[in-house]
Amino acid sequence: LWRFWGPLSALSKVYSQLLSAMASAERIFEVLDTDSEVKNSSNARALPPIDGGVEFEHVSFRYDDNKPNVLHDVSFKVKPGQRVALVGPTGAGKSTIVNLLMRFYDATDGSLRIDGMDVKNATLESLRKQMGIVLQDSFIFAGTVEQNMRYGNEEATDEQLRKAGESVRLDRVVAQLSDGYATEVEERGSKLSVGQRQLLAFGRVLLSDPRILILDEATSSVDTETEQHIQEALQTLLAGRTAFIIAHRLSTIRDADLILVVQDGRIAEQGSHEALMKQSGLYANLVLTQLSMQESVILQTS
Ligand code: ADP
Repeated sequence: LWRFWGPLSALSKVYSQLLSAMASAERIFEVLDTDSEVKNSSNARALPPIDGGVEFEHVSFRYDDNKPNVLHDVSFKVKPGQRVALVGPTGAGKSTIVNLLMRFYDATDGSLRIDGMDVKNATLESLRKQMGIVLQDSFIFAGTVEQNMRYGNEEATDEQLRKAGESVRLDRVVAQLSDGYATEVEERGSKLSVGQRQLLAFGRVLLSDPRILILDEATSSVDTETEQHIQEALQTLLAGRTAFIIAHRLSTIRDADLILVVQDGRIAEQGSHEALMKQSGLYANLVLTQLSMQESVILQTS
């Protein structure tokens, strides 16, 4: 049932277009600055190194002035280091919330603050530099494994690179490649499996050390061992960062500090798993439905 709440289609489209247009980490910002609808305001200041507190206050948004709003009065508060799970059906507005956070667009009404500063007053580069993003189908550039990691941080030392590789279990993958970190991978990473690509993307993001992490949890199936590595790597990646996860697994959702149940562009419910279960509303119903589905599967197969 959660799986049915598909991946981040809109975000993934805009982001992979941007990624394919760029050749280096710096250029991300050039491309964004020229193509994005959002421009630096004349009094924009660089955002200092952030702790990662995020606040949406009465945010409404429409992509097109001739069309109705796709977000209505969205408000929530996230403390630095907290994990937020966004759940809700396809088209509910989850990607749009993340798009606003990355400032691919600016809110039509209301405000978005990071560590108390309105993002409209921050330069795009200083904002996006402190954010990392991992999508379902991780983008791999033509080049070596090492070059792919360095897109996250061109100044990283070899030691930092290897350490990041170890932390996200990429070292095991690299050990099996003909030239280790110097192995050439093709665009879209054809030499690597989906799971390996994901670990490489984790390595890249870990090296860039963002305070805010946006993650579209993978739904595609990988073998059990890779899955275990991905889950372990994910815990390393998430540690100490504010994270927004478009979550598909009940276990991820349950572990979140804050669950935002998005429906029809509104936050229908928000709170921890325990709090939302007590409310016996939409979320509790979905969880119970999913559990009973799993149970009936177990009953059928046993
Ligand atoms: P979710 O991530 O929950 O699937 P989205 O945020 O992608 O939902 O979509 C919310 C609404 O905004 C949908 O009605 C979708 O069609 C619309 N939408 C998303 N991206 C765009 C866009 N770039 N331009 C116009 N409408 C969009």
